[in-house]
Order: sequence, then structure tokens, then C-alpha cells
Amino acid sequence: MSKVRVRFAPSPTGGLHLGGVRTVLYNYLFARQHGGDFILRIEDTDQSRYVPGAEEYIVNCLQWCGLIPDESPQKGGEYAPYRQSERKALYKQYAQQLVDNGYAYYAFDTPQEIEEMRKKLHTDTNTNPQYDHNTRRQMRNSLSLSKEKTASLLEEGTPYVIRIKMPENETVNFTDMIRGDVSFDTNLVDDKVLLKADGMPTYHLAVVVDDYLMKISHAFRGEEWLPSAPVHLLLWKYLGWEKHMPQWAHLPLILKPDGHGKLSKRDGDRLGFPVFAMNWTDPRTNETAGCFREMGFLPEAFVNLLAVLGWNDGTEQELFSMDELVKKFSISRVHKGGAKFDFEKAKWFNHQYIQQKTEEELLPLVTPFIQQHLQTALDQGHLRSVIALIKDRCTLLSDFWQQGHFLFATPEMKELPAVQEKWNEQKKQFFISWIDSFATIANWTDTELETSFNDCLLQHGLKKGDALLPLRIMLVGAKYGPGVFHIAELIGKIETMSRIRSVIESLK
Ligand code: GLU
Repeated sequence: MSKVRVRFAPSPTGGLHLGGVRTVLYNYLFARQHGGDFILRIEDTDQSRYVPGAEEYIVNCLQWCGLIPDESPQKGGEYAPYRQSERKALYKQYAQQLVDNGYAYYAFDTPQEIEEMRKKLHTDTNTNPQYDHNTRRQMRNSLSLSKEKTASLLEEGTPYVIRIKMPENETVNFTDMIRGDVSFDTNLVDDKVLLKADGMPTYHLAVVVDDYLMKISHAFRGEEWLPSAPVHLLLWKYLGWEKHMPQWAHLPLILKPDGHGKLSKRDGDRLGFPVFAMNWTDPRTNETAGCFREMGFLPEAFVNLLAVLGWNDGTEQELFSMDELVKKFSISRVHKGGAKFDFEKAKWFNHQYIQQKTEEELLPLVTPFIQQHLQTALDQGHLRSVIALIKDRCTLLSDFWQQGHFLFATPEMKELPAVQEKWNEQKKQFFISWIDSFATIANWTDTELETSFNDCLLQHGLKKGDALLPLRIMLVGAKYGPGVFHIAELIGKIETMSRIRSVIESLK
């Protein structure tokens, strides 16, 4: 077998959907497993859909996920350039070759003429008339016009596109690595444009030419590209490259949580979860989409949850390190049917990966999620203790702030009414004498604090249940959080005293 070479070939049109990242991942795993090359090729031939910044964003997403290409526009490589817009001059000769061999033709129709044809042929049974074997003879192209007329139109510089001439009554088929035999009726496929009036190839021509020139051995792409496969198959054949055609696998869609249809960014917005890998701000609308990285997902967890969205190794195992994935991944075990996205499950993966990390490893990852809320520089020693204390309560990196903000800054007393309701002189005296006793606590640790708390309760004839919730609210502002004495230990003597004192005063 020739060397394994796979590619991820995105069009730089916006944020990277998690389905796109999964496509990258499956390509990457396959390449690593076979000692092959993983190529990033930017398919930017559709200038009208080009969005500035989108390529850089894709590169950064791959970097964040640890899915680094061996060849790319940034890294270069033997088959450079890797941006199709920079390869423009290359495609025309192949389109010309197809025309010369009778597999493609010049079409001179203006957009208005095509529109008129569509209107004219529109009926209840034919709602979407196409430029195809039924209609091409009625249009202005080198098949319907005389040789002389065609030559003179070309000479006059009349704008034209080159279209593939889809054969009639043929079946084209190929073996998909996931779906098995797939066949298409050529009568149902229109005469796709291959080369546009501005000399740019369309995706269909460019993808075939580049997969050939870049010696791609396997092409894994989203299921949405399956309808384009017959055009590509015929191009491989018509260009005389059939025996070099990559093996294809069309990956199943990632579905909405209810299983009905493809998961879109809008579904994420509606249901409150991200669908993009990293924050993406659309420069045209300034709209920003919530994303996995900024929400506090670890790249390892993100990669793991994507790997098992549509694939498993045949056992119950769900947690896989990258090394294990490289060993165990197999394209033939990718399911044909779509995979439902489950955000709760996605969070479960992240929780698992957070628990696996040491405090030391989490330190740099958690820091930005805390620092963004603070005016002063974060004490790393303190942060390490906080991480150790609340790690098991955290599912997302952003949870470290939700679950521990009161360990960095004085909290708002949201639940003060709950203390107020049962407040009395006896409790007030208890808290005053407890904080007075702090001077005698030799070691400011949670165990010593708890002992002194219990002793003081005894002296005041109170039960633990009478004072523990008020103490929690004094320190946290609310009814949640880790052990109260641990909290007191971490925020220190002065801050503990001051929080208790200010509540006592506000309840006077
Ligand atoms: N440029 C296509 C995309 O945006 C690539 C499809 C393929 O891999 O053939 O997804």
C-alpha cells in the first residue's frame, strides 16, 4: 500500500463546528496509526464565502486540540501551496483537458438566463429544475451551439464557465469505508460548474485535482458531501486518475440531542451549550458564539468525547487517551447512523479529565478562569489549595470560580435572610465569643477551628445544627461549598473574622 496521506480540507467560512473537529480527529488518528501524513488544506476558492480570520482560527483550534498537521499553509511541505486560492493557475488546464476530451463543456449563460430556465420549467412535479441532461440542449453552451459560434464567443471574450457533462443512464458506484457499496444514478445529478467565470475552480474540481496532486490516499469527510461523490468519482475517471482515487469514508452527522436533524449552532444557542470548538466572532456581524474552550473544557476531554460520538472500540470503554485512540481507532467501527449529541455526557467527560489531573497540572489551566474576575494578581499557592479543596465539585474549568469565588473575594450575602430568620441573642453571643477565641488557636487549620467551634457551642448551650448554616452563609454568602472549616482555613483568620463580624453587625 502506498503511504497513508489524509487531509482536512475546510473552507474558511466561520467557526469550527464540533463535527468538523471530529472529522479532523478521525483523519489524524488514522494517519498516526498508519505512520502516515496529516495535511491541512484550505479550500478557499469561493471568494464570496471567504471570511477573514477564519483560517487562523481553524489553525488555532487544531493547535488547542493537539491535532497538529504535518503539512499546512503555515508549515509548508512538499506539496505546497496548501491554500487553493494560491493554486488557482493550476486548475484551468485540467478543466480544459476535460473539455477537450468531451467530458465537460463551455457554458455562456448569464445568471438571468439560468433563472429564466428555472422559472420556465418549474412545475408542481419539478420544483427545482437543474442545469442537466434534460435542459443543457436548451441553454447557451458548446453542446447546443455550433463549433463556429462557440469559437467566436470565446474569441470575443464572452464570460463562460466550464460544466461537467454528466452522462445519461449510468450508475456510478464506489465502496465507502463506513457505508459499504454506494451507487448513484447519473440522471439525478446536475452538470456542476467546475471552473468559474473568474478562472477559479469550484470545490468539485479543486478537491479532485488537489487530492490527486497531493497523493491523498484516504479522504474522510462529513456525510453532507456524499451527494457530491458521483461528480468526484467521474472526475477521477475522466482525468485518467481512477486508480489513484483515495478511499473514501463519509462520516455520520452529529445530531441534535433529540436525534432529529443535524446539530446546528442555533440548537446550541437554544439549548444552552456550545457547538464551536473555540470562541468565534463573526467579523461581518460581530456576533460571538459560546464555545467549548472558553466554557472550560479541557482539550483532552473534548477530543475524547468527539472520538466516541459515532465510534466505539466494541467494549464499554469510554475514556481513551490520545495514545489509546491512535492504537484502537478503526474507521470500520464508525457507525453509519448519526450520533446524538448529549451535553450532560460531554460534561461528564470533562469532569473525569479534571479529576485525573494533579493540582499542579490544573494550576495554569484554572488561573485564567479565576484571574479574569480579580483586580489583583492571583497567589498561586492559594490557588493550588483551592483547587485541591474543590476539584471534585468542578465539571468545567469555569466551575472553579462558581464553586470557589468566596475563596478569592468577599462574597455577596445572597442568603442572609436565611440567617436572619433564626437569629437571636444567644447565637450572636456565640459568634462573638468564637471569633474572640481565635487569638488562642495555635494552628489555623480546619481541625483546630472545628474543635474550638465545638467547644464554644458547648459553652453557649447550642447545637452544631444551630450555628453551622449561619457560619456557612457568613463565609460563602449562600448555602453551598466545601466544608466550612476548610473555607475558614483557606481565607485566613482576618478575613474569617471580618466576614462573621460584618454579618453580626448587619443583623443588629
Ligand atoms: N471544503 C470542503 C469543506 O468545507 C471539504 C470537503 C471534503 O473533504 O471533500 O468541508
